Amino acid sequence: MVPIRDVVVFPYMMVPFVIGRPSSVLALEKALQSDKRIYLATQMDASQDNPTPKDIFGVGTVATIVQSLKLPDGNIKVLVEGLHRARTVRVKEENGCLHAEVELEPVIKVSQAKLSLLTKRLNTLFEQFAKLNPNINYETIVQAARSTDTDRLADTIASNLPIGVEDKQSLLEINDPGERMEKICEFIEIEIEKVKMDKSIQGRVRRQMEKAQREYYLNEKIKAIQKELGRGEKDEIEELKKKVEEAQMPPDAKEKAVNEIRRLEQMPPMSAETTVSRTYLDWLIAMPWEKRTREIKDIVRAERILNEDHYGLDKVKERILEFLAVRQMARQKTSGSILCFVGPPGVGKTSLGRSIARATGRKFVRLSLGGVRDEAEIRGHRRTYIGALPGQIVQMMKKAGTKNPVFLLDEVDKMSMDFRGDPSAALMEVLDPEHNTSFVDHYLDTEFDLSQVLFICTANVLHTVPRPLQDRMEVIHISGYTEPEKLNIAKRHLVTKQLDQKGLKKERVKFTDEAIFEVIRSYTRESGVRNLERELANVCRKVVRKMVADKTQRHQSINIGRDYIHEALGPVKFRTQLAAEANEVGLATGLAWTEVGGEVLLTEVTTMEGKGDILLTGKLGEVMQESAKAALSFVRSRSGDFGLLRDFHKSIDMHVHIPEGAIPKDGPSAGITLATTIVSALTRIPVRRDVAMTGEITLRGKVLPIGGVKEKVLAAHRAGIKNVILPKENEKDLIDIPEAVLEDINIVLVETMDQVLDIALERPLKKDPGGFLEKKRPPRVEGGDRPGVH
Ligand code: ADP
Repeated sequence: MVPIRDVVVFPYMMVPFVIGRPSSVLALEKALQSDKRIYLATQMDASQDNPTPKDIFGVGTVATIVQSLKLPDGNIKVLVEGLHRARTVRVKEENGCLHAEVELEPVIKVSQAKLSLLTKRLNTLFEQFAKLNPNINYETIVQAARSTDTDRLADTIASNLPIGVEDKQSLLEINDPGERMEKICEFIEIEIEKVKMDKSIQGRVRRQMEKAQREYYLNEKIKAIQKELGRGEKDEIEELKKKVEEAQMPPDAKEKAVNEIRRLEQMPPMSAETTVSRTYLDWLIAMPWEKRTREIKDIVRAERILNEDHYGLDKVKERILEFLAVRQMARQKTSGSILCFVGPPGVGKTSLGRSIARATGRKFVRLSLGGVRDEAEIRGHRRTYIGALPGQIVQMMKKAGTKNPVFLLDEVDKMSMDFRGDPSAALMEVLDPEHNTSFVDHYLDTEFDLSQVLFICTANVLHTVPRPLQDRMEVIHISGYTEPEKLNIAKRHLVTKQLDQKGLKKERVKFTDEAIFEVIRSYTRESGVRNLERELANVCRKVVRKMVADKTQRHQSINIGRDYIHEALGPVKFRTQLAAEANEVGLATGLAWTEVGGEVLLTEVTTMEGKGDILLTGKLGEVMQESAKAALSFVRSRSGDFGLLRDFHKSIDMHVHIPEGAIPKDGPSAGITLATTIVSALTRIPVRRDVAMTGEITLRGKVLPIGGVKEKVLAAHRAGIKNVILPKENEKDLIDIPEAVLEDINIVLVETMDQVLDIALERPLKKDPGGFLEKKRPPRVEGGDRPGVH
């Protein structure tokens, strides 16, 4: 017996190996002297040099020695052929070598059907495996496969499988060829899986390698091409470095830029990252860190420019000039150093900003905050986001190109209306003179000095602007224009501007005053002059078109009168007439103040049979609804004075409606109008249509002051109303109303609701009509209220 290591010899197998151990050499020699048979069994542990019978597997193969060759070093090389599997019965150590007594395994018959099935399966599996695994000697196996001896086939395949010694031993130990084949199939399947997995991993690794190599190759090629073209990457980096040097950045920004260039140098060119990095550097370089325009501090010149650009607005201009003067004197910037123009659209807020820029020799940039709802729009996105950009403030500063422009923040009131982040917080920092020396944009990620910017805000209304923002601003109210003012603005500015824009000579195209008045009255109804400018532009366009179409007109002068206006602008859009067509029951004219200026609002009340319900429609805000209810309560509490039954309300429903339902309305100033309408509806006395009114009402019938007097009176004037009822306490506001308007309108100042009704109703109220009132009327409260109640 020769114990062998690392190999399992199967029957039918020719195996060459070298024998070196003296005991084994002795055993071999003994065998050669007799019948050349030798029992080969595998050692359990290959590292053992002197295995005892216990260390050797109990099943081996009886083999015959085909060849033997003594090597010079004393070892013997043999070639053996396996003959028969055998089971060790007893092993003796005798005369320096091992002798084994073995029992040959019996030949087991398996049904032919099962065998042929297994053979087929084994064949296909093995063929598949051999294809995947180039180390297998396919030829031998094909030969074996052809043999009909399944036992031999199974052993040949087993011996060729690239599996471990223990697995092979386990195959050797299965004597039943059917079982052995099944086990082999199992092994092969596992091996196939392993090979497949290996291949896919290898493939993936290879693909990745290929991609990296390709990129490297292409990048090198680009570099080479750029070098050929003479614009090496180095040049570009050098250029960036030079630009950074020239940009006059503060130390922190410069450090950021230098670091970024260093990073850029190490990136492969043309990668996505370099683009990001380069864009960032471009922004840093483009910012006006130290660039500024020379400021003109000549106040007289500033005044001249403001007057040149705008008609009227005397008080506003005065405030602006004072503001500019103070700014020059005061070294230290205090709160209120930001101008804020508040007023309806089209009154010249933006263009005043532009004039201020011109007057002070600064650049002008404008940022509309309408619809800004996100802090990031002001302050930018961090660079880690894909496609990040600086915020609007920084973008505009870059656009201005100087660090001391006039920066107009348009519509600050619209911003806070629907914010999601909090843009107003960011804006606060921008506008705070104590903090804006070091404004940090998320994208630039370094401080930028905004302290030399002249910020101007505009808003339509002030109450939606966050309080802390208001505190930082010097608010200048600009109210709407009267008709004569509009005429002058049109004559001096708008017409000239439009003619210029359309390439018309102002000596040849003349607008008569009536024509302009016609546009103002019949085609626009607004506080400002925006639509007026638009309509005038329309007229000028028509003029140009006519001139181009008809060559004879080209060199003639044109005088534009009323008829020309009608022809050019089509049917009249607004008629100058009273809001209400006739004196009517339950219909009164109120005055409202909205974002777009003053407006005339009709108030309707109708009564129906019912049981005391009140219905309010016309998109009324909460305050207005409450005001309507207060008006009703007032009327009920005074029913006797108005000639009404004390419990009149029990048998009727009342519907209060303010038409133009699409426009939301709110505020307390419709109080007296609502009360008047309700009284009129109940007493069936019509309301005078040439009277408009505004004022808040208390439950006791007092009239409280309201806001927006000038806008409201101007609106009444536009609507052709002759009498306006205002609260007495608003007397102080009359000073703002232009003389020309006061001449046309009769202003009546009132303190109580009774005064209002005296004026507004067509005929006086009949008190106590015919005695069907209850005997005990509620006491009259007028004048009876305690001081300090309102
Ligand atoms: P806003 O910003 O208040 O909405 P704009 O500044 O856009 O209004 O003004 C609209 C147009 O009216 C501009 O062309 C402006 O020049 C002109 N405008 C407004 N008020 C005057 C005025 N007082 N004098 C001359 N032009 C004016």
